[in-house]
Parts: sequence; C-alpha cells; structure tokens
Amino acid sequence: MAVVEAAEEFAKHVTSEEMTAQLERDMTAIAEGEATLDEVTDESREMLAKVFEELEDSREDIGEYLQESLKADKTLGPCPECGEDMLVRRSRQGSYFVGCDGFPECRNTLPLPSTGSPQVLDEVCADHDMKHVKMLAGRDTFVHGCPRCEAEKAEASEDEIIGPCPDCHEPDGGELAIKHLRSGSRLVGCTRYPDCDYSLPLPRNGDIEVTDEYCEEHDLPELVVDPDSDDPWELGCPICNYEEYRARNAVEDLEDLNGIGSATAEKLEAAGIDSLDALREADPDRVAAAVQGVTAGKVRDWQEQLEA
Ligand SMILES: [Zn+2]
Ligand SMILES: [Zn+2]
Ligand SMILES: [Zn+2]
Ligand SMILES: [Zn+2]
Repeated sequence: MAVVEAAEEFAKHVTSEEMTAQLERDMTAIAEGEATLDEVTDESREMLAKVFEELEDSREDIGEYLQESLKADKTLGPCPECGEDMLVRRSRQGSYFVGCDGFPECRNTLPLPSTGSPQVLDEVCADHDMKHVKMLAGRDTFVHGCPRCEAEKAEASEDEIIGPCPDCHEPDGGELAIKHLRSGSRLVGCTRYPDCDYSLPLPRNGDIEVTDEYCEEHDLPELVVDPDSDDPWELGCPICNYEEYRARNAVEDLEDLNGIGSATAEKLEAAGIDSLDALREADPDRVAAAVQGVTAGKVRDWQEQLEA
C-alpha cells in the first residue's frame, strides 16, 4: 500500500488511468488501421521515458516515504525508558524481539514468542501505549497482545513446583516447576536453571490444573488444561505426555520428513539416498545435481529436521 501511495504522491503518471486509457485507444487505432505499430510504440516509449523521469526525480522522496512506512509497520509505541520508538527487531540467531530505536544508548528490550513472525496490530494497550502483536504461524497463528503486559504478567507469577527433576534431583535437589516466561510461553522447567536446563513444553493457552493424581513412574502430578471448559485436555504426567508426543512424531524413514512424498523418496533412493543415515551424510549439492526437482537448500532443510 505504501508503494502505491508513494507513487500517487510523487509519480502521478504511473498510477493515472489516463495512461492505460491512451494505450488502449492506440491499440484500437492499430487494429482499425488508423495508426501504425511504429507510431504507437514510439509514443509509448516517450510516455514511459516521462514516467521514469518522474520516478528518478522523486527517488529520494519515495525512498524516505517507503522507509517511514516500513518503520511504521514495526513500531509498537514509546520506550518507557527513553521515549524513542520500540520496534520489532530480529536477532542474529533469527528470533524476533522488541528493541528500542535508541539502541545502543538505550538497551531496553522485550521478548516475543518463539513461534511465527510478528505482525503489529492497530489495537493499543491502554496501560502501556503499546500496540498489540500477532504471531503469524499458519494454523498456529495467535494474538500475543501487548508485549509489556505479557512480560509483567510472567514476572508477577510464581513458579509452581510439581515434583522432582529427573536429571538432577539426585543429588542436587532440583525440582520441576510450571514456569511463565516473559515471552508469554509456559514450560515445565528445573528450579536449578540455568545449572540444569531440563524442560518440557506446555501449551500456550488455557488454565493449567495440577491434579491429585500422580504418575508413579515419574512422581509427577497429572495436568489438565482448561479444566472448566467444555473440552478439557487431560495432558497427564508432563514427562509421559512429552515422551508419547516424541514417539508419535518420530522420524523413521525418508517419507516422515516434511517435503518428502513417495515420488521424491523414490527419486532419492534411485540416487543412492536410501536411508536416513545416507541422507544425514549426503552432500547437499551433489544430491541436488543428481535428483531432479530437489535443491541443495531442500536437502539442508531435511538434514536440519533430522538434527531436531
Ligand atoms: Zn529506549
Ligand atoms: Zn500493556
Ligand atoms: Zn534439574
Ligand atoms: Zn510419567
């Protein structure tokens, strides 16, 4: 939208319907023998030259306009520490966060969820004058809300201890607790973090009830998500739940990987990639050269899935 607006503002010719109408008239004239192809193309070239001149002359204005619009798309609101804009940024590792435009003088930041890419919404948090954020992640898309509210909620919440940490209870006494992270997500993690980084994922939304039923194997209570809803989810023991999840999603052959169907699997096998181990060890460029329709990037993507 910003591109169209900038063109309307600084290079009127490109967006005017008069230009298209003129070309239509000229083409009709050729069809009816009233003009020649050469005449019309000469005229079109002249028109286009004018358009480029206009664009060329306003290049700085257009650039500035686009830059402002891009920044507006990423701006959440004023930094509580210095008053500059808080912007959606991306770390070198590729994760998103909210950082201050006053960097490096101001190092104020707020975390964002690790799932999806952020979109700044028009809705503004009344407490913090900060726009809400939505995380776009296909079917897992969700509204994160005001990043300051989410961070403050997590800081105010207490860890709820549920049982012994399987990695370090003996001998260090680590315990597992339900924790709320400043990025808005939750997990079951060890109280000795960062000395012990044992953790299990929890769903982002829904109340979590810790029941009196215990898993004998892990000495942990069974959890229920959204106990008061019409459709509560009996998650059970968080360790058993995670182990079942991993078993369900285990990668056993080539076709378990995202992006490999039976046809691709056959082509890979024909090229000597007949097992997960063979794929793990393969040189992506060599596979891409040998298998039609497979790029080196795809091979690297599959190898990453195998590592995960
Ligand atoms: Zn700041
Ligand atoms: Zn807020
Ligand atoms: Zn631990
Ligand atoms: Zn269990």
